[in-house]
Amino acid sequence: MAIERIAVLGAGIMGRGIAYAATISGFETRLYDAFPEALAKGKAEILNLMEKGVAAGRLPAEARASARLAAHADLATATQDADLVIEAAPENMPLKLKLFGELARLTRPDAILATNTSSMSVTEMAGATGRAPLVVGMHFFNPVHRMKLVEIVRALETSPETIEAASVVAMRMGKEPVVVKEAPGFVTTRINALIGNEAFRMLEEGVASAPDIDKALKLGLNHPMGPFELVDLVGLDTRLSILEFLFQTLGERYRPNNLMVQYVKAGRLGRKTGKGVYEYSQGA
Ligand code: NAD
Repeated sequence: MAIERIAVLGAGIMGRGIAYAATISGFETRLYDAFPEALAKGKAEILNLMEKGVAAGRLPAEARASARLAAHADLATATQDADLVIEAAPENMPLKLKLFGELARLTRPDAILATNTSSMSVTEMAGATGRAPLVVGMHFFNPVHRMKLVEIVRALETSPETIEAASVVAMRMGKEPVVVKEAPGFVTTRINALIGNEAFRMLEEGVASAPDIDKALKLGLNHPMGPFELVDLVGLDTRLSILEFLFQTLGERYRPNNLMVQYVKAGRLGRKTGKGVYEYSQGA
């Protein structure tokens, strides 16, 4: 089946990035969020990113096509005619299971259901749908408009046709897919969570300051961003949920660092709250 209509669930950091990539690549895109304010903010940011892209010459004027993007506050309206649904709601399994159960009821029986989860079991989500061969992971990276990789995650019963269709969509969005067998954290999240947690341990032990740890990884290991710059972008709450899940499934080496847990409790969630490991002025 050729995919032309994509519904994206969740208009947060990732959902709006995926909806942006889908819209500029020519897909009819429907954005849904359970919270009207988040939906309006997500749509406004997508349109803003398009305008900036055109103004800077990165995006051809015809790619702007805001008419291809619709925002819906109702899940049924957003998903009923979708060929592909990409779920980017919070990293919380009960919430995702509920959504996938609803999708099985609301979408066409041949629609592909994808999740952008960073670490959780796609097989478990597929179990809530009654159409496991059509359920797949599509793990995009932040910021979506710049990052080239999409991990296509093969769950226990995902069909080869679904893997192929998801890979074609990723390529049409200008991304490079890699196919990964389902395992906690896939490839990238598993390694990244370990590096990020170790960086917090070093900060807590006073091995070096946060800017120096970031600098060391950038200049010494050629990482494009330091681990603290990256976690501030990802969101400390999102990273903590991932670590808690990896700790449960893969064991002790993923136990979330205490300093990081304290930052989350203090509301220091990263750029999105203006303060994480670093402080950000508004609009920075
Ligand atoms: P976020 O908190 O920025 O956005 C989540 C959005 O989902 C919010 O706008 C929220 O209002 C909305 N939401 C809440 N309940 C919902 C529901 N029932 N239905 C629909 N929307 C709902 O989170 P995010 O960082 O965009 O992460 C979303 C998913 O993407 C998670 O599974 C996360 O693990 C994954 N992910 C995140 C990153 C990252 O760098 N942040 C990278 C790759 C994958």
